[in-house]
Amino acid sequence: MTASHSSILDYDSSDEYRPEPAPEPQAPAWRDGSVRIGIHTSIARGFAGSLESASKLGCNALQIFSASPRMWPRVGSRIAEIEAAEFRARRAELGLGPLVVHANYLINLGTSDPVMRVRSIQAFHDEIVRGIALGADYLVVHPGSSRGTTPAQAIRDVAQAIRQAARGVRLCQKFGDLRDCRLRLLLENTSGMGAAIGSRFEELKAILDGVPELPLGICLDTAHAFHAGYEIHTEAGLAQTIAALDRTVSLARVGVLHVNDSKTPFASRVDRHEHIGRGHFGKGKSGLEAFRRILNHPSLSASAGRPGRAFLLETPIDAPGDDRRNVRRLWDLVGIAAKQAPRAQNGFTMLPRKQKATKRVAPVAPRFSPAKRRNSGRKPVLTSKG
Ligand SMILES: [Zn+2]
Ligand SMILES: [Zn+2]
Repeated sequence: MTASHSSILDYDSSDEYRPEPAPEPQAPAWRDGSVRIGIHTSIARGFAGSLESASKLGCNALQIFSASPRMWPRVGSRIAEIEAAEFRARRAELGLGPLVVHANYLINLGTSDPVMRVRSIQAFHDEIVRGIALGADYLVVHPGSSRGTTPAQAIRDVAQAIRQAARGVRLCQKFGDLRDCRLRLLLENTSGMGAAIGSRFEELKAILDGVPELPLGICLDTAHAFHAGYEIHTEAGLAQTIAALDRTVSLARVGVLHVNDSKTPFASRVDRHEHIGRGHFGKGKSGLEAFRRILNHPSLSASAGRPGRAFLLETPIDAPGDDRRNVRRLWDLVGIAAKQAPRAQNGFTMLPRKQKATKRVAPVAPRFSPAKRRNSGRKPVLTSKG
């Protein structure tokens, strides 16, 4: 072998094949530490329509249903990839995030009825698949009901049902690594109506502990906490509620908050939402103060080491513009005044035109002048503040 040959054939360590290191997972833009405010938007005009609504309402986050929430969708019901791709692309363009999907209300993962249980697990599995197709960050589900069984058994059943529903779906990039997940499943705290489980943080914690291998967290609904007897509306009560939450599920596992006022009194265990500052959290100024404390609390706010934690409204739309007003109120309460909502469109509302200014609307539309209210049966009137 000549010297020239050996120079070609000699082992050179720089020739060694080294696989490129896996890129560090890039944090999505919505985790940049900015305040994220959203509202539940309708998919009545298609999935992409919900994005336009959120954007026009001045949101930078949103929640949707991925199918009709009060009907059992067809088993295996999927979203056509072309529609899902269009949705994902438009969402990226609009810079909306996080995207939260709220699961169907009929799903009861704690049921002892075998038929209902199979149905619920199948439907929740389909929710997970549709959530991933849409590129959702979170899927929120109510834990279920212990009717016909004990709360302790229902908690075990919920954990087992979640495990079964997630079977065969890759929620995280790497199995067993919960740091980098495509979709996280959030259990929502409940008002404690009837035999509903999950009104106590301890119950939620017990479910989380039952499924340690999956990316599970909590969605904290302010109205539900209030209904369940957590004094989230007072300064001392908020501190106690947050401490209780941290002791049990831990604040790090609170993915998003549902920000709602309540139509029913404290500890009512009856789930009815109200406009921000108009319900039982405290009328008028004190109600707004309650929400100002929640939105800006150092342990809950987006700047508190939990970038991307969104505040999502599920407030009623009794009158045209209620949705826009509630969104604007949240921005005001965090002191940002729509700076981060450049696409907001004055006058935009999700209330369908045919429902505008019906009799039902008038009594709860305090921004209508009496003269306009009399006319409202014929001509829908939008306030200039919209
Ligand atoms: Zn809910
Ligand atoms: Zn909620």
